[in-house]
Amino acid sequence: MRQKIVVGNWKMNNTIAESAALASELVAALGKGFSGCEVGIAPTYVALQEAGKIIAGSAVQLVAQNCHYENDGAFTGEISTGMLKAVGCSYVIIGHSERRQFFGETNATVNLRIKKALAEGLKVILCVGETLAERESEVTSKVVTSQVTEGLAGISDISTVVIAYEPVWAIGTGKTASSAQAEEVHLLIRNTITKLYGDAAAGKLRIQYGGSVKPSNAAELFAMPNIDGGLIGGASLNAADFAAIIKAAS
Ligand code: PEP
Repeated sequence: MRQKIVVGNWKMNNTIAESAALASELVAALGKGFSGCEVGIAPTYVALQEAGKIIAGSAVQLVAQNCHYENDGAFTGEISTGMLKAVGCSYVIIGHSERRQFFGETNATVNLRIKKALAEGLKVILCVGETLAERESEVTSKVVTSQVTEGLAGISDISTVVIAYEPVWAIGTGKTASSAQAEEVHLLIRNTITKLYGDAAAGKLRIQYGGSVKPSNAAELFAMPNIDGGLIGGASLNAADFAAIIKAAS
């Protein structure tokens, strides 16, 4: 039985004070001793430290929105794995579609970042997913298979990798993939992992769904056999909604 994992990606939202307030509300909404599923929040880099203090001792883990593949140096605007570990991150999201669309990330740079994160002991959430044009041209399975295969190239141990399937057309648009549409791609991802890593690794891999998950649709999505939780954007900015989604996974 795979433990579900629900992570809130706060993207470029909230000041330090707002992040602290949201983290406190979430901890309170989950209640003491919550252990229904794995939970994380990914505030902006400047708010990691403050949010980390607030969630310390709770079930909520600190997640980063990206990391670079070098230790340090002339990489303006980037952040290193060492910096993220020092502030208490346990997971890092890599290859989010917004990074791919707006900041030129490719499967090759995603692969470098994943290798670095894993080598430094950070757990990884690898994001994959097709655009609307790709879905309409019926290349979803080709695109997602390459994102998984190339993103994980040269990585032998995926025991601390989670994959998030996030159809780009469903992110922040209010359009959710139906549970059947999502399940179809989740199964494809698990079968791809079976081919690359074998049955045991594929059976243990957690595959999150992301794309306009809300309290009203979370339970149906999370009930699908290959959906092991969610990566949540907009709805994670409201503690009550995010807690309701977490509880739907628990
Ligand atoms: C995301 O960006 O990872 C995401 C799933 O966003 P939203 O929930 O807002 O669609």
